[in-house]
Amino acid sequence: MRNALGLMLASVVTAVVIAGVWFWTSSPRADVAAPQTVAARPAETLPATATAKSAPKREDVEVTAAIPEKAPVAPQPKNTCANPDALGVSRVVEIDTTGGPAFGFQHFKQLDFLTDKEVVLTFDDGPWPVNTPLVLKALADECTKAVFFPIGKHATYHPEILKQVAAAGHTVGAHTWSHANLNNKKMTEQQARDEVEKGFSAVKLALGAPPSPFFRFPELQHGPAAMAYLGSRNVAIFSCDLDSFDFRAKDATQIINTVMTKVEKQGKGIILMHDFQKRTAEALPTLLRRLKAGGYKVVQMKARAPFQTLADYDEALVKDMKLPVASTRPVNSVVQTVSD
Ligand SMILES: [Zn+2]
Repeated sequence: MRNALGLMLASVVTAVVIAGVWFWTSSPRADVAAPQTVAARPAETLPATATAKSAPKREDVEVTAAIPEKAPVAPQPKNTCANPDALGVSRVVEIDTTGGPAFGFQHFKQLDFLTDKEVVLTFDDGPWPVNTPLVLKALADECTKAVFFPIGKHATYHPEILKQVAAAGHTVGAHTWSHANLNNKKMTEQQARDEVEKGFSAVKLALGAPPSPFFRFPELQHGPAAMAYLGSRNVAIFSCDLDSFDFRAKDATQIINTVMTKVEKQGKGIILMHDFQKRTAEALPTLLRRLKAGGYKVVQMKARAPFQTLADYDEALVKDMKLPVASTRPVNSVVQTVSD
């Protein structure tokens, strides 16, 4: 009798367990299904200029993580674009800068991530009054994004302009402290490291937040020791595919023609320009229109994680800036980029 009762009890328990497992596996798992549904929404609400299928991976992750029990949040209005025919951003790529990957076929041919007709817009040597804000306006009018490589000193002169660059959603890296040639034989390894670190710390000080671990060598002079150091600091190195030579162009038209001729020949690439240069600021509205008309698409490069500045450089910079100023000469009479 006891055995029979035990057998019955065991059968009931087994049945309950089976039913439970069945119910658990076959029931609609709202917690898993919901994010997929909602995740598709931001892609649909991207501006007309961005293709829905190329919605950045990062946005999917953000939306998925935000889901749990709360009602879905309305799509971010930050991507709205008033210009229906804008150049826009066709896709956003996130760069894992571990070990210091290098980009730009002019010097580095390992990482070929752009497809036909894709370009990356990059601007060096800012921030600078008038010119940088004009570049920002031209980019905003086309709802497109770029990577900026500011000079550390310039960042300390015009932090408010650099803040505008970051606030507009552009990627901000660094371009040394004083635009020194790090491949110069007279430069010691320590001096080169100081130029790199102080440059990044200056950009961080200006922005109030760490920049992206993206770096461009002044004059594209890639010293081997500095390259190795940047690799150890997990900083991505940017050369370029297309040099606009805007710093020596006689007018805006020449810049437009140089870029368009090169991009038509090469089909794609990272374009090097200077927001520091007046002619570039003048050329940009037309150049962006020409790129759009030619069927080119802009890819924005972002870093997976921000640059980790070294506290010593951050502190030294703050200390330096509190020193009384010995010279009262205007900035543009002291610092001028004469070549790049
Ligand atoms: Zn430069």
